[in-house]
Amino acid sequence: MPYFLENSFYHGKSTLDLASSVQSCEIKWISHATHSEGQVHSKLSKISHFPQTEFEFQGLFPDEESCVTYLFHTKWSHGFECPNCMSRNDAISPRKSITCPQCGSHTSLTTDTVMHGTKKNLYSWLLAIWWLCTNEGGTSAKDLQRLLGLASYQTAWTWMQKLRMVMAAADSIPCHGLVQVGSAEVSPAWEKPERARVITAAETLLPSGITGRIRMQVIDLLSATSVTAFLRTAVQSGSSIVAPGLPPYADAEKYGSIYVIDSPTENPDRISEILSSVEIWLNKVHRGGVAIKHLQHYLDEFCFRNNSIILPDKQSVFIALLKGCMAGKTMPYRELVSDQH
Ligand SMILES: [Zn+2]
Repeated sequence: MPYFLENSFYHGKSTLDLASSVQSCEIKWISHATHSEGQVHSKLSKISHFPQTEFEFQGLFPDEESCVTYLFHTKWSHGFECPNCMSRNDAISPRKSITCPQCGSHTSLTTDTVMHGTKKNLYSWLLAIWWLCTNEGGTSAKDLQRLLGLASYQTAWTWMQKLRMVMAAADSIPCHGLVQVGSAEVSPAWEKPERARVITAAETLLPSGITGRIRMQVIDLLSATSVTAFLRTAVQSGSSIVAPGLPPYADAEKYGSIYVIDSPTENPDRISEILSSVEIWLNKVHRGGVAIKHLQHYLDEFCFRNNSIILPDKQSVFIALLKGCMAGKTMPYRELVSDQH
């Protein structure tokens, strides 16, 4: 079972920075609601009505127009803002294509979003995002292809990679406090010989001792340089770091107090558990179909799923991911497949 499924301890215990933006998104949605928009919002605002099944999702978003309305207010929560002249106009009703009344420039609802240039309908994108958030164990490109009835596996795979990149961008807060660090070789496909070294950091929340935020990164080899580079982004300065007593970890003291575990050749217990869990997840959910050069995106999804447990419910995770999708575009397929992570 994936690590994050075994650890539902976060429910109702804390908040994430993302939570405030999630809430403000909903408030703006109310303030801009027309009658038909209000119908959508009234369903979304009640957590008990947040769709748990595809049938319920279809009831909430019955047509393309309802998706356009919802995404419009997600992108422009204060009313339409022209990307050319930056003027704001909250009198413009939700639509896919907008002509700025101030400067006359044309823009699209999907411009500079994860859906940039898409030929598919927005209902499919919304359904994919909802489905990614409601399937706690994770989802594969083949599953997405089946769900959306896509003719092309390549399209499903590209969507999944783009959404994983959004997950990484939406979840960039470093671990802090008491942080365990370690690394091991991970096999994305048990039946193949390829293995990748993954370095991991995991918060230990006190006084309960449960695991908090985690961060993972593929590295070429374990060295002082790779450990230092990882700690710089994954662990907040001043943290208390628990690490193996190996030379590459020696510089960790620059980021806080370092505590070396008794056995220099082994990882702290929590790190061993997480690395074991991610390997099982890659092989069970993704059926050994993950190439080493794409592994980082899958690790980002694994971390996002673990770390989003801090949000109060699935609806909050959905809105957080959706806001990330509307905030910036990602690489096209050609660049994704040549990505050498
Ligand atoms: Zn304009």
